[in-house]
Amino acid sequence: MKKYLVVGGVAGGASAAARLRRLSEEDQIIMFEKGPHVSFSNCCLPYYLSGTVKKAEHLVLMSPEKFDRQYNIEARVNHEVVSIDRETKSIEVKNLLTAETYQESYDKLILSPGARPVVPPIPGIEKVNTFTIRNVLDIDRLQKSIETIKPSRITIVGGGFIGIEAAENLVEAGHAVTLVESLPQVLNQFDLEMVQILHKELIDNGVDLIVGDRVSGFDTHEVILESGKTIASEVIILSIGVAPESELAKEAGLKIRSRGAIWVDHNYRTSDPDIYAVGDAIQVYNPLMRDYTMLALAGPAQKQARAVANHIHKIPVNYPGYIGSSVVKVFNYNAASTGLNERTVREMGIEYDYAYIVPKDKVGLMPDSEELHFKLLFEEPTGRIIGAQAIGRGNVDKRIDVIATAITAKATIDHLKDLELCYAPPFGTAKDVVNMAGYVASNLLHDAFQHIPASRIRELLENEAYILDVREQREWDAGHILGAKHIPLSEFRARMNEIPREKPVYIHCRSGQRSYNAILILQHNGYRDVFNISGGFVGLCFNEYFTDKMTGRDSIVSEYDFK
Ligand code: FAD
Repeated sequence: MKKYLVVGGVAGGASAAARLRRLSEEDQIIMFEKGPHVSFSNCCLPYYLSGTVKKAEHLVLMSPEKFDRQYNIEARVNHEVVSIDRETKSIEVKNLLTAETYQESYDKLILSPGARPVVPPIPGIEKVNTFTIRNVLDIDRLQKSIETIKPSRITIVGGGFIGIEAAENLVEAGHAVTLVESLPQVLNQFDLEMVQILHKELIDNGVDLIVGDRVSGFDTHEVILESGKTIASEVIILSIGVAPESELAKEAGLKIRSRGAIWVDHNYRTSDPDIYAVGDAIQVYNPLMRDYTMLALAGPAQKQARAVANHIHKIPVNYPGYIGSSVVKVFNYNAASTGLNERTVREMGIEYDYAYIVPKDKVGLMPDSEELHFKLLFEEPTGRIIGAQAIGRGNVDKRIDVIATAITAKATIDHLKDLELCYAPPFGTAKDVVNMAGYVASNLLHDAFQHIPASRIRELLENEAYILDVREQREWDAGHILGAKHIPLSEFRARMNEIPREKPVYIHCRSGQRSYNAILILQHNGYRDVFNISGGFVGLCFNEYFTDKMTGRDSIVSEYDFK
């Protein structure tokens, strides 16, 4: 019989303990959790704020008693592991209810201590009610404080997943919410042109969204920003980021990677072969970046935990690396991404291009058919897929999951064209979004046409570029780029002679598909310098709207048209 100890009783810890039991009935398994709960749903915590999850206790999935009965695993809650003695292969544990300490020996030790919310020493922080969201106690305390304080406004600092989900759930509970993000955008895994859709969705749903400004201090019931702006607010939620809980490992002399993460090898073994580490406390290898990176997500933590139990039982571990796939709901929109975004690709110096398309997610006749904004990044000249982002009201995760699978299988854009995916009208289109993205990407790679992003239109207008709208009259009347020329596709061949040959022509329709046809007509007629405006008029409107509202700058369209 072996004795296995696990530090941390949630995503990674509980998964490792359960898998260890499945692999052996004999071994002794003890899991230590310093909090009062094991195996709770971190990911559902924000949904308690809106009442989607009705009771805080519903967030706890397994009790220590259930672990004992179902798995014969001893789960010791309110027990903090305070040190590791690698010489004697033992840990020191503190019972937080009695302050007693004791030793426990191990054959193997698994660390899954997670990451703690970062709370920077912002001046005046002691004068305000600040909260972080990590566990059931945190969310219960936050909810109870909101009920007592009855804040006129809640400010959330940080626009990552947790900040965004908290904002949505608090608005749904009827609160006034300000969200402050120091970067120019929320949800940094998306490119700005994509995330502008979500910026609009946040402000349309009443979130007072401030980007590109940083909290510089607090005063009583007040948040002070670097710009000088102040926000009256009685409750402040800090969701700035997380830092690995690696002190225990550090003090035990285990090797540490950058940003304080515990060093592990491809079997998740630390620098001590009898100690493993998984989850938010480690860095993972990203094969696209060819580097180690933080990835605080539940799926990777649980997969690593399973791998550790397997390795302990001499089952070979496969380490394909992690490309970072995630999804988030933002009011009526869903947003998913995988792999690298354009910003990262550019920073890495990879030669690349991308397809940005806005097709319907289902057959248009279906009542819930919606537009889906889809961006696919690929390497040049190989066509290897390196990332994708999808934002829409419908099913984005299916599309991004296909791309994540394709990236893992080292597929190229040519594979996407030929992928045989499920189709019936309520689910998709005969040529799915993913196939369409493959076609467009392949056309770009093989120089069938050229494109520019909608984010360049403002600059092109300032330089009096020739911008051509090929939508029909009704669409033009509903809103168009100020200064653009208009030749509907239905009149295009007859009026082509109006289009200059001596200067570049930038063409758009609503989504980029009809304008592609116009480009082919021009190219077949000897035009060379013609560019499709990726994402079309709808992409442009999304790209401009939030920044126009934020800054009060002049709009470059007569009317926005999102329908
Ligand atoms: P945790 O699950 O955090 O568990 C670590 C545990 O170890 C903690 O409970 C801690 O108290 C305990 N511990 C630490 N040190 C000690 C010690 N010395 N002794 C005893 N116990 C100790 N991921 C997704 O993929 N999708 C989502 O939608 C999503 N939503 C999230 C929403 C919120 C609000 C939060 C906070 C996280 C969310 N995550 C999501 C991230 C996901 O929950 C984490 O990546 C995952 O839980 C990491 O697992 P872990 O085991 O490393 O750490």
